[in-house]
Amino acid sequence: MTSYHLRCSRCGKELADDGIILAHDGCNPPGLLQTVYAATKPGPLDVLKGLFRYRDWLPVRRTFPGSHGAVAYRSEALARHLQLENLYITFSGYWPERGAFMRTCSFKELEAYTVLARLPDHFHEILVIASAGNTARAFINVCSQYRIPAVVIVPEWSIPTLWQERKPDDCVCIIALGGNSDYADVISLAGIICGRDGFVAEGGALNVARRDGLGTTVLTCAEEAGCIPDEYFQAVGSGTGAIAAWETSVRLMQNGVFPGGPMRLHVAQNIPFAPIYDAWTRQSRNLDFMSPYRFSSGKPYAEMLFNRKPPYGIAGGLYDALQATNGNVYGISNEEAAAASKLFEETEEIDIDPAAAVAVACLVRCIAERKVQREAFIMLNVTGGGFKRLQRDVSLQTSKPLVIMDSADVENIYPHLEMLKSRCSAVNNHSNCS
Ligand SMILES: *Cc1c(COP(=O)(O)O)cnc(C)c1O
Ligand SMILES: [Zn+2]
Repeated sequence: MTSYHLRCSRCGKELADDGIILAHDGCNPPGLLQTVYAATKPGPLDVLKGLFRYRDWLPVRRTFPGSHGAVAYRSEALARHLQLENLYITFSGYWPERGAFMRTCSFKELEAYTVLARLPDHFHEILVIASAGNTARAFINVCSQYRIPAVVIVPEWSIPTLWQERKPDDCVCIIALGGNSDYADVISLAGIICGRDGFVAEGGALNVARRDGLGTTVLTCAEEAGCIPDEYFQAVGSGTGAIAAWETSVRLMQNGVFPGGPMRLHVAQNIPFAPIYDAWTRQSRNLDFMSPYRFSSGKPYAEMLFNRKPPYGIAGGLYDALQATNGNVYGISNEEAAAASKLFEETEEIDIDPAAAVAVACLVRCIAERKVQREAFIMLNVTGGGFKRLQRDVSLQTSKPLVIMDSADVENIYPHLEMLKSRCSAVNNHSNCS
């Protein structure tokens, strides 16, 4: 449907997209693949609703009619409080009063839809997704709704964040990894499962669909303001969202869709568990080794942002994005984040995800330290929110994993995977999408 190809950001080689490719085989270490679209603007904006309005700049073969997008608006109360003239908030979550209907309450819903819309037409495999928290919730929701077979692997501690309005469909299998496992352990288990016949890696940041889906937050903001933002604020874990924001802003500039740009990235992590912040502060492309054991010294405010192995140094990754935009990384304390969450809820009148509060705190700090000008066009990416608001409208239940396993006993899950395969062979036809 969409006309595009892929380009390896390490060597520049152009490749056709088969819907699942994650990297250029010929490059080792690989670089991120990027999409190159034939269309000179994001899409048939008025024809479709939700995320797929931007179809012409999404690497997709189908659209899902029930999808929603982020919303953007010009802030009044928070802007007044911070004495800003052009503060735009892009909100991904549930906030019906503002027209925001993403019921999994984070921008991971954008990537879930786009990844699933990118899958090849006759995809008869099972998608394997490694995730902590918000990504898992988004994929469980969308895969269940459209009956797309998936294995979702999560660390056991994140199970309480897997709330849904309904029980997941039985084509979605949740596997939890116990003990001290974190996101990096979950990724290795996903790798093992993908070595088996019939299972395909979703790929995380390597998946171009994830990034272009997240990049729609910038499209929405630029569309609302009629201009490309000068300054971009986001809390980062993997950095995928910020890389995507950069790629999207460049695409808007190159095609002259809106005036403005270049857009500078301001990304924030929650210290002391902040590998990207640590590396950037050392002016290094390489991350320090981080012990796999989570949070030996107290819990971070935004637990979800902790990622030991983000795509930071890889060609086309966050380090390159920061260099290219003259960007910066900030370390935000638990106290700053908690205060920012309260400030946002009091001024804008919606609850936000702890990770998003880290971005708000980053903005507060940059204004106080005069790192950005008060009259600049600022995009604050509120990457998640409205969980409390959603709870007022519906009752939620926690999705149960099929198994909780030790990383040691991988063999024990094979029978479950085989059962899933036979159960899913009948449903794998994307019958619900257009
Ligand atoms: C995942 C997530 C982030 C961080 O995004 P990355 O793309 O991993 O850097 C920020 N906020 C929320 C709410 C998230 O779910
Ligand atoms: Zn290459």
